Amino acid sequence: MSEGRTAVRYHRSVALAAIALILGVVATWWFYVNLERVEEQAVTRHVDQLARFVQIDVMHSVEYHLEIQQRIATRLSRSDSVDVNEWSADMMMLRADYAFYRTFSILDRDLDVRFNEGEALMTETRGQAREVLKRYRTRLEEVAETGGFVVMRPVPAAGEDFVLFFAHPIGTGDQNDGFLIVVMSVAEAVEAMVSEQFLDGLELRIFADETQIFPVEAGETASLDVDWLGSFLLDLDEDGSGFQFEFGLPWADRADLESMLPEAALAGGLSVSLMLAVIVFLGLNATEQARSLVYSNQLLEQEIRERELAEEELEYLVTHDPLTGLPNRTGSTRYLERFLSEDEHQNQQLALLFLDLDQFKDINDSLGHQLGDQLLCEIPRRLAGVLKERDFVGRHGGDEFLVAVRRRNREQIEQLVVNILRSMDTGFAIDDNRFFISASIGIAYFPESGGSVSELIQNADTALFKAKNAGRNQYAVFTREMFSQAQHRLNLSRDIRHALDAGQFRLAYQPIVSVKDASLCGLEALLRWEHEKGYMVPPQEFIRIAEETGLIGRLGEYALERALADLAEWQKLTDTPPWLSVNISGAQVREGGFAERLSVLLHQYRVPPELLHLEITEEILIENLVRNRRKLQELDDIGMRIVVDDFGVGYSSLAYLKNFPISVVKIDRGFVRDLAIDLEDQAITRTICSLSNDLGMLTVAEGVETTEQLDLLRRFRCSFAQGFLFSRPVAAKEVASMLTGSPDWMAAHGA
Ligand code: C2E
Ligand code: MG
Ligand code: MG
Repeated sequence: MSEGRTAVRYHRSVALAAIALILGVVATWWFYVNLERVEEQAVTRHVDQLARFVQIDVMHSVEYHLEIQQRIATRLSRSDSVDVNEWSADMMMLRADYAFYRTFSILDRDLDVRFNEGEALMTETRGQAREVLKRYRTRLEEVAETGGFVVMRPVPAAGEDFVLFFAHPIGTGDQNDGFLIVVMSVAEAVEAMVSEQFLDGLELRIFADETQIFPVEAGETASLDVDWLGSFLLDLDEDGSGFQFEFGLPWADRADLESMLPEAALAGGLSVSLMLAVIVFLGLNATEQARSLVYSNQLLEQEIRERELAEEELEYLVTHDPLTGLPNRTGSTRYLERFLSEDEHQNQQLALLFLDLDQFKDINDSLGHQLGDQLLCEIPRRLAGVLKERDFVGRHGGDEFLVAVRRRNREQIEQLVVNILRSMDTGFAIDDNRFFISASIGIAYFPESGGSVSELIQNADTALFKAKNAGRNQYAVFTREMFSQAQHRLNLSRDIRHALDAGQFRLAYQPIVSVKDASLCGLEALLRWEHEKGYMVPPQEFIRIAEETGLIGRLGEYALERALADLAEWQKLTDTPPWLSVNISGAQVREGGFAERLSVLLHQYRVPPELLHLEITEEILIENLVRNRRKLQELDDIGMRIVVDDFGVGYSSLAYLKNFPISVVKIDRGFVRDLAIDLEDQAITRTICSLSNDLGMLTVAEGVETTEQLDLLRRFRCSFAQGFLFSRPVAAKEVASMLTGSPDWMAAHGA
């Protein structure tokens, strides 16, 4: 997942968490405010209720005292004369009971004091009292007529107190005989009348017409520290004004009344909101992470799948041949290992076939690689026509195929191999070309011919070699002897390499004489190898191995150079030096630059080209008609003579001789051996000689050992003869003495 996408998802989580937080906080706040209001209302109700209690309490007390005062006034009105002493004593007693009563005064109708009981307050505040009484004169006259009482506005008094004047008429109407004035301390009256239990921690203050009359001590309770919540009006004379009682709750005490519920709800709500936000964030993040984990898992799985596919593809590429689609060498080895380890068909015979096309290289070279490739693709199809589904076919490389089969017995397997070989007989039609190609097959049986895959392949290959050598288009079964032969070949090839380095090779020369007069005309250079262990290794043997192992290049080079060097010496000895025949392998001809190399050597040793005869086998002629004719033509153009060696053994067709630049035909020893007695050999030899003469070619008969043979050859008009009758192959220095005229060389070296 991209970084950007992750960031966007992270920011989305944060935003949603913030929204959750804001919603939570808003809800909490709303809840908190409502709780606070409910709580406030509860507190107010509580204060109101207390105020109500106090109001009732005070009302009762006031009414009670008004009644007392009225009774006093009534009693005064009934008595004709007031016994001052008795009245004073009564009032004193009253004051003793209720300390807030300061003064009881009896005033005459003109508001002059007749009797005064109590503190000297009345006297002391007289001036003021007179003022007050005067202000209420009208009201006093009214009550003096109708009855009732007058409550006067409180008047400040000494000792931070207010005093309250009550006036009761003594008798009404005509009976009126003045007024009873009762002076009451506000502070003490409050103290006496308002029960503490009702106040229950509330603050109380009382106003009379905007003036605070209780408590008077300034600063005792700063009104700011108190929340004034409840009140009532004590209107004694029901004139619409009176004493305003106000109740307040000190802020400091408020907490005691309030529950911590709103705060708790606030704190809880905020915490929950915060937690909610965190949970939302974590939850979303976790979901995102889970989602991104799923996504990365999918990516991972996809990558694993892709990698597996790539590995399978790679495995296929490593184990298969792109051209034919068959398992390649690696794939075949792996498959065969499994094939061998399978224990089903245990009582069946298992064989590995090593198939190699005969002369595929020529088809490839002459008709082009594309056609060669198409042919290679055709082979598995051909095989499929003969093989069963469960049989295995792999390409070992080049034109080599591996086939693994299980059959009931060896006969069946060998019959199958024959069928494979026959399946090629019909030829191949590719791109309007029709051509024929055969195959050779080596068979290795499991486990007798190898217990492991590599051993089986190697031994099947050895058997194949045998089949090839035996003339191709056939099969060979691997045997133990082949193994030792193969071993021997291996040792020998190593020894050849060593012998080349150690200079163990030398050349022997065999004279070639004129049939007419037995004069020395030519010499054939023949390689000799005395093994360091003391025995002579026959040329046929080491030449073949050198050809198989590619050492023939060096070996042939050695022979050519040595021969030319010797010839260069002999040229100095005679004006008519013999020609020199050198045997050339197909591999040497095929190798590029052979003609150029020869030119250089001829030039180097100052040997005229016509003195060098190159002996090739028929095989080279038919191997690759087009290419080899061109190569031989190059050699002929330089002036060298081409000799067909061992003529008549292989594919012998006199017809193709005319297509090649051939100068000499060498009749194979096989025809010469029994020439004296075998009429057929005579016929063949005669035909070869006459045809060669007709085509302008010379003939050499090899292996001439008897004069009878020589006589017949003379009759057949054969040109030259070579054989023990004249001389065995000899060392170079002996050739020198032959050339310097020792006439009896034939007697010395011949049979
Ligand atoms: P070749 O080219 O056919 O050589 C003639 C062979 O016949 C030689 O055998 C020679 O010793 C043998 N021979 C000659 N006269 C008689 C006779 O009267 N009776 C019998 N029974 N044999 C006779 P050698 O030297 O063993 O060579 C065998 C083959 O080895 C040669 O056959 C040739 O094909 C090959 N060879 C020898 N030297 C070379 C070489 O330098 N290069 C290449 N490519 N092949 C070579
Ligand atoms: Mg030869
Ligand atoms: Mg020969």
